[in-house]
This record gives sequence, structure tokens and C-alpha cells, in this order.
Amino acid sequence: TTTELELVNVSASWDEGIGELFEKIKQENKANGQPNCDASLFFTNLYITPVLKNISLYLEKGKMLAVAGSTGSGKSSLLMMILGELVPSEGKIRHSGRISFSPQTPWIMPGTIRDAILFGLTYDEYRYTSVIKACQLEEDFALLPEKDKTLLVEGGVTLSGGQRARLGLARAVYKDADLYLLDAPFTHLDIVTEKEIFEKCVCKLMASKTRIVVTSKLEHLKRADKILLLHNGDCYFYGTFSELQAQRPDFSSLLLGMEAYDNINAERRSSILTETLRRVSVDE
Ligand code: ATP
Repeated sequence: TTTELELVNVSASWDEGIGELFEKIKQENKANGQPNCDASLFFTNLYITPVLKNISLYLEKGKMLAVAGSTGSGKSSLLMMILGELVPSEGKIRHSGRISFSPQTPWIMPGTIRDAILFGLTYDEYRYTSVIKACQLEEDFALLPEKDKTLLVEGGVTLSGGQRARLGLARAVYKDADLYLLDAPFTHLDIVTEKEIFEKCVCKLMASKTRIVVTSKLEHLKRADKILLLHNGDCYFYGTFSELQAQRPDFSSLLLGMEAYDNINAERRSSILTETLRRVSVDE
């Protein structure tokens, strides 16, 4: 089969299931010598809204899925679900093989920069060099006294938000996997760097990889094989960019009509996208 990932009508919430919660309260009450359940605690947890509702998608080997959506719409939660950290309450999720995940804020451990990228894997010069070039880290290393052997510890160098983001991306890309999950890898980058990294790393270096990229940039949505647009945990749209224009004309023309949308930083773009999705969801 050439399918790498499939989600069929998947829903999930971050909170514990009612049954599980009820059991837990009972156990706790027993332990405290109180036989009755606290009704108010039960009711506060009764109206849990799912973080993801009825999501379906299908990703073939070597293809790119772009995930966009409003703030708090469940983009990161979707990745957590694929990672197995968030268990679906309904629906089916199917994938096989190794996953490499690049979180929004990568964790940096004490050690050299190189160690932070290798993250326990063996050093392969060719692979390492292509990754750091594609992630635009070469120039940064050149400025450091001990290049990528510089220590990232107290008293050592402190990375900027952008450097940290690129280091996290490099770590995820260096790892050999069947599925790559890149959570907003461009958040702290300037427009030029974002463009370079999208081209050189996400499109070129990762050309044959199955990828999910959380991004709000239209250029990225156009280049992706599939797009998933989330709003309040719902799928607002799933398909290709031309299908988006056909099926969601109001949304598409609003964003495409904004000359500067793609050229502002990712944070501001995200709030514009959120506003636009709110507006069109109310109109519909
Ligand atoms: P953003 O654009 O701000 O990054 P997002 O679309 O990635 O948002 P999520 O981070 O998935 O959205 O958040 C969706 C909801 O799930 C939020 O209400 C958030 O508080 C909740 N949530 C996210 N991660 C966790 C977690 N690990 N444990 C509990 N709740 C979580």
C-alpha cells in the first residue's frame, strides 16, 4: 500500500472520558472515606467539548499535507493524536512506521549544538551537512567560536527564537522516519528565511518524505498536495488548493485579496486567519 496515514471520522478530547472520571472520583472518595460522589465536580466535566471533531484525511507516501486553522483550533492536538499522545474517542486512525516530530518549541538539552541536532543518533557527515544547509544553520555556526561544537549550557551560547526553531527542525529532519510532523516550523523566522527553508528543506530535501506541516502561508498551501483547514476542532476544509477556491470561495477570496498576507510574520498571519475563519463561519 502507498497510504502512509489515514484518519476516518476521528474525534478526540483532552479531558478524561466521563466513565473513567467517574471511576476515579469513586476511588478517591472511597480512599477518603466519603461514599458519595461530588455532583458539582461531575457536572463541570460533563460538558466537555471535543478538541477535534469528525476529522478524516488520507495521506499517500511522499506527499505533503498542510494543516492551517484558527488559533486553538486543534492543529497541535491533531499531531499529538497521530503521535499517540491523544487517544481518539471515536473513529479510526491508521499509520505504520516511524514518526519524526518537530514541536513548536523544541527542547534543548545541555551539550553541543551538534548533539542537540543528532539527538542520540550517529553522526553522518553528508546527511548532517545537507540538513544544516537546508535549515539555514550553516551561517549561524560560522559565527560561533567553536562552530557546531559550541556548548549549549549555562555560560554557553543562548539561541535566539529563530535559531532554536531551526535547530528543532534540523533535529526532526535528520532523523530517518516514514512520517514527519512539523508543528509551525516557521513561527520565529523572518519572511526571507521562512521562504528559503520551505523551499530548500520542506520541498527539496524532504521531497520524497511524507510530511505534515502546520503553516498558515498561502504559498505553502498551494504547494502542498492536500490542505486541512481547522476551525474550533471542525474540519472547515479538506482538499487541494483549487478545490479550496471552488468550495470555499468567500474564504479564499478574502485571503487572496490581502496583498500582504503572505509577507507578514507567522504570528500576525495566524491572527488574520483566525479572524477570517470566524467571519466566514458566522456568515455561512
Ligand atoms: P495554536 O494555533 O495556538 O498553536 P492549535 O490549533 O495548535 O493552536 P491546540 O494547541 O491543538 O491548537 O489546542 C487546542 C485545544 O486543546 C486548546 O483548548 C488547548 O488548550 C488544548 N490542548 C492542547 N494541547 C493540550 C494538552 N497537551 N493537554 C491538554 N489540553 C491541550
